[in-house]
Amino acid sequence: MNESQYDSICGAVNTKELRCVDVAVIGAGISGLAVADQLIRAGLSVSVLEARARVGGRLLGSPLDLGASWFWPGEHRVMALTQRLAIETFEQYRTGDALIDDIAGLQRYPGNPIDVPSYRIAGGTSALAAALTAELPPGTLHLQQPVHEITSDLHVATREHRWQAHHVVIALPPALAVHSITLPPELPTDLIDVAARTPVWMGDSVKVVAHFKEPFWRRDGLAGAAMSRRGPLTELHDMSGPAGEPAALFGFARAASMHADIERDIRDQLIRMFGKQAPEPIEVLIQDWSREQWTVPPDTYGLPDYAKFGHPMYQQPALAGRLHWSSTETAPSYAGHIEGALAAAERTVTSILGNCAATT
Ligand SMILES: Cc1cc2nc3c(=O)[nH]c(=O)nc-3n(C[C@H](O)[C@H](O)[C@H](O)COP(=O)(O)OP(=O)(O)OC[C@H]3O[C@@H](n4cnc5c(N)ncnc54)[C@H](O)[C@@H]3O)c2cc1C
Repeated sequence: MNESQYDSICGAVNTKELRCVDVAVIGAGISGLAVADQLIRAGLSVSVLEARARVGGRLLGSPLDLGASWFWPGEHRVMALTQRLAIETFEQYRTGDALIDDIAGLQRYPGNPIDVPSYRIAGGTSALAAALTAELPPGTLHLQQPVHEITSDLHVATREHRWQAHHVVIALPPALAVHSITLPPELPTDLIDVAARTPVWMGDSVKVVAHFKEPFWRRDGLAGAAMSRRGPLTELHDMSGPAGEPAALFGFARAASMHADIERDIRDQLIRMFGKQAPEPIEVLIQDWSREQWTVPPDTYGLPDYAKFGHPMYQQPALAGRLHWSSTETAPSYAGHIEGALAAAERTVTSILGNCAATT
């Protein structure tokens, strides 16, 4: 479908108040950006509406990742995207011994049973979102436009603007969509119920990155991988860039363990685990995802039912094939991963292009 064909369906021309597009994509995370990229290449007009002042969603930080860090062997969509966008990848550093920080004391564990083989992205995973954004035609992306309503006839409203679309893609966690967007009343109640109870992947996590002058632990034969029962960091990994530059360790902490002086506790833990010779970090970055209003709604903390991921109801578009679910949580395989977000995007694009072919 081209724009003039769409205008005849839409029956309106673009104005400041109402913009007509083939597809309105809500959310400029990796899934929404991948949908937009592929539909624009197929010749459709697309607007991407993003609540935050930045793209990437749960891909954040450059070069130090505060959201996703890894992709794994077999995740061919991520690998193919890095190749297409000429983004450098490298293997996760895993060489050396691991540490176990138990209640009884610190143990050095020969070899590294904690890290599995994985890949990283030079410049951080947000480089994927930045590169896809750079390929969007001017005027496609609209930042700081939180969508608060999708009507039955697919008007999409933010506080400042309205769009009329032939297809709408909800590329944000389903529980957040149900919480923050007034959805068309025709949507089946069991679909709304599934969406409201689908957990937000890593939505209750805190990621902590300790940035050092050099990867000093490697000199001591340590991989940087560790588990801790004492915390506040429960699991640690080397998060240095290619060839150890920039040098960094990252750890996950529980949102419930955050308090005003948490950085002091984290610095103390690093000294406890890596020894008094461990230098002070240049900086400690703390990203508490449970407090991010555009990732996780307030009342979903600890939703337990991960079997809702990739639910069959997400695989079929609603509203006569025109309303699509496309975040990582909706993917039947690799849900939660970047690969899952790309798989969901792929299904959405196939569905929209199939629907367009059927109606033209
Ligand atoms: C700490 C952490 C570590 C992770 N580690 C890994 C890892 O190592 N490997 C891996 O594969 N995955 C990892 N993940 C998961 C990975 O980040 C996600 O699978 C992926 O980024 C999800 O992309 P998405 O596009 O589906 O959703 P999101 O990235 O959440 O994008 C949704 C977008 O919608 C926007 N939005 C929300 N509400 C609205 C609204 N009302 N109107 C308009 N826009 C809206 C948001 O601002 C956001 O930009 C991690 C995640 C976290 C938080």
